[in-house]
Amino acid sequence: MDDDDNQQQPIDEDANPENQLAELDDEADAEFVVIDDDDDDDDDSDEATSSTSSESGEEGGVNMGARQSRARCESITFNQNLPATHSYLGADLEDTGGGASWVEPGSILDNVPIFPVAGLILMPGQTLPLQSLHPHRISMFRRIIERHSMFAVLTLRGGPMDLMGDMMRQEMVNVGTLAQVVAFKESEDVLTTIKIRAVGRQRFMLVELKHTIDGGPCGKVRILPEICLGDALSCATPDSWQKFRLNKSFNRSQKRYIASCFTPTPSFVYRQNDAEVIKSQLVAELSQWYDPTRVAPLADNLVDFSFWVATNLPIDDDNKLFLLGINCTVQRLRCELYLIRQCEDLCCRSCSLRICKKRDVFSMSVDGPMGAYVNPSGHVHEMLTVYDVNHSGILSRGRSSIESSWFPGYAWTIQVCARCHAHMGWKFSAREDGLQPKKFWGLTRSAIWPMMREPTDDDAQADEQHAEAARDDVTHRPLRL
Ligand SMILES: [Zn+2]
Repeated sequence: MDDDDNQQQPIDEDANPENQLAELDDEADAEFVVIDDDDDDDDDSDEATSSTSSESGEEGGVNMGARQSRARCESITFNQNLPATHSYLGADLEDTGGGASWVEPGSILDNVPIFPVAGLILMPGQTLPLQSLHPHRISMFRRIIERHSMFAVLTLRGGPMDLMGDMMRQEMVNVGTLAQVVAFKESEDVLTTIKIRAVGRQRFMLVELKHTIDGGPCGKVRILPEICLGDALSCATPDSWQKFRLNKSFNRSQKRYIASCFTPTPSFVYRQNDAEVIKSQLVAELSQWYDPTRVAPLADNLVDFSFWVATNLPIDDDNKLFLLGINCTVQRLRCELYLIRQCEDLCCRSCSLRICKKRDVFSMSVDGPMGAYVNPSGHVHEMLTVYDVNHSGILSRGRSSIESSWFPGYAWTIQVCARCHAHMGWKFSAREDGLQPKKFWGLTRSAIWPMMREPTDDDAQADEQHAEAARDDVTHRPLRL
């Protein structure tokens, strides 16, 4: 089967981005005219757009994607707060009380209960829903809730079978996130069940793996630091030139030039690490997936924003763990920008069949397009919501059901890859009048991988014209795993 044959989307001339790009080209250009006003903050967004002006088509696409995203958000009638609160767990979860726990970076915590999980890499700030019938798990969570302590979430790599059919040993990675239980409910029906809503707090490195008396895993962990670099321009300019640095008629590019004149560091290094520039570029990219009016406020706190982006990127475990292991916020943001720009399509992890395009990603939750959800058997899926899929690349299996749906009012139907029949996720169809969208898809992150764009001749030409961008690429190239 030819992959290209499977890329056919429903034909809708108005929705075709290529057609819209042509129609909106003039309008898009008009929006990217750099207006040099007196507002210093505008320098950043100006540079975010002007820095890639050679890729006007791509910029037009980003701009058009943001407009599409805004139109989609306005058309959604579903209560997007419901998935974020995990209402399918029940409305009667009890708050544990207390504020967010915080531990001094570098501290060693001993005998921390470890929760190993496959297919999930928890990020700080991310919500983690859990439910379990397992007596050991239930007693572990009882102790955690009683002590208001945290537990360590570590990802299991490998699995029962590899692609060659050989048995693989599951191994825990050594970097994870501490989670805090914020709400829980223990029910005594036929079997004792515990339902939990936890939130990721701080990253840690596993120092020593141990076992409790009852055989459960625990460990000694070291809290990892979060390094926030200050504005390099503020300390790279001599005092006598501060009046120029603060001059609002200079944009950040000119300020970097001034700074580079007084230091051995070339201006592109300042640009690479300019958090304001990276933030503006990321906001522009993410506005295609998420309500543009919500993205910008998220970016006010760079640390939280970097983890929010890492949570929502549809990338594989290797890249996600790479992001989780980075201690520097700016470096994490740079890597995220690279990944989101290189990603074009999302494919079946088993057979590489294209499942959807990057522009199909949208958000059905206020938390963003990617979220962790737990099914009735206790398995946690990180799921990405998409507006449309390659209809010849994905098939429905079984009957649709409204029971325990993660999106109240929508029935879900299992979806499999049309080529290799691997489980891809679910199709959600509205069962209540007035719900918009009428249907959408949820792809489980463990079943998909992003197809990264290969460098083209146009890229090479752009690299020559923008040596700074080229050096940026070289810095990031090891990320191609
Ligand atoms: Zn497949």
